[in-house]
Amino acid sequence: MAKELEFKRAPINWIPAAVLVATPIAAALITPWYLATHKVSAPVWLTFGAVAVWTGMSITAGYHRLMSHRAYKAHPAVRNFFLLGATLAVQGSAFDWCSGHRTHHRHVDDPMDDPYSAKRGFWFSHIGWMLRNYPSGNFDYKNIPDLTKDKVLQIQHKYYGLWVVATNVGLIGAIGWLIGDVWGTLLLAGLVRLVINHHFTFFINSLCHMYGTRPYTDTNTARDNFILAIPTWGEGYHNYHHFFQYDYRNGVKWWQYDPTKWLIAALAKLGLASELRTVDDMTIKHAEVQMQFKRAQNKLAKITNEQGQVLDSNLPSNLQKFSDRINFEYQQFNETVKEWQALKAKAIQMKKAEFSERLHEVDEVLRDQYKILEQRIFAHNRNLKQAFKQLNYKPS
Ligand SMILES: [Zn+2]
Ligand SMILES: [Zn+2]
Repeated sequence: MAKELEFKRAPINWIPAAVLVATPIAAALITPWYLATHKVSAPVWLTFGAVAVWTGMSITAGYHRLMSHRAYKAHPAVRNFFLLGATLAVQGSAFDWCSGHRTHHRHVDDPMDDPYSAKRGFWFSHIGWMLRNYPSGNFDYKNIPDLTKDKVLQIQHKYYGLWVVATNVGLIGAIGWLIGDVWGTLLLAGLVRLVINHHFTFFINSLCHMYGTRPYTDTNTARDNFILAIPTWGEGYHNYHHFFQYDYRNGVKWWQYDPTKWLIAALAKLGLASELRTVDDMTIKHAEVQMQFKRAQNKLAKITNEQGQVLDSNLPSNLQKFSDRINFEYQQFNETVKEWQALKAKAIQMKKAEFSERLHEVDEVLRDQYKILEQRIFAHNRNLKQAFKQLNYKPS
């Protein structure tokens, strides 16, 4: 209760609040007038686009997947390029951003400890959390020991304000001077780009915790949303991300729109990124099938008794069959999962016991056994889909 009072009485965070309030107002007032009275050249628009991509991806591939989650390793040139872009994005120093983000994952949805808890509503999770000095927004950097020892990040943190001005005014202004339109470049590639990038990033904390599907877990509010993946450079697959946060991919399926994952994969091809971390297909599929069962069981729980019999005799008889089938499939699925877990334990044991020259033999045996179990998990998935289809029910 005392803490809740602290939330109510939280003092205004003057500098971030001024930036976050003044920039959209200035952009909304100046841009229409400027566009109506000035001709904007193609190079200025091009710079606007390029800086938007650079800053956007510096947040997603840099601050987020590289620094907060250590989902891969990057060549220092790439890391610093992202750091510069993220500084241009004016979303706080790497220390603040990553410490807050790790806290968000650790305490997701907790109204007291998640710095941008979706449980406090759209406004708070989108922007409100930065406007006041809430107790949940005080980061002590204990959760970023890997970053605080980084010399470059220390410099960025220490002179953060200076860096923000140097990049947003100095660098953007210099590019404007080179292409012959300082004010147009400062307005479009500077101010307008900044405001757009801000709110597109903020959508991840607000809308991506409100609208979309939950294919992997329903233990938190994070959602998968293709529409939101477009402005957020692939971060819209937020349900997957909250369940498997160390994966360098957010849109894990090859066809899911995640330009950040494509960028990281391309950097790896060029030798500029390495040790890309992924979750294996089996673990992912297991989470998905588990969720489908959970959903089906939740629906069935409303119409069946504890023995799984449909209570209301007026309901169609195929529902009884469906209920039986789901229960049967679930038992089978649990068997497979048990075997899979046993195999994983055995793999660790065998690897410990075997000499290194025989390890490849162990790997081969295990690989075959994994393959069989993997096929079974996929079969469970197909059976479930079939059952849903026969009932004309969509597992959403
Ligand atoms: Zn989140
Ligand atoms: Zn994250």
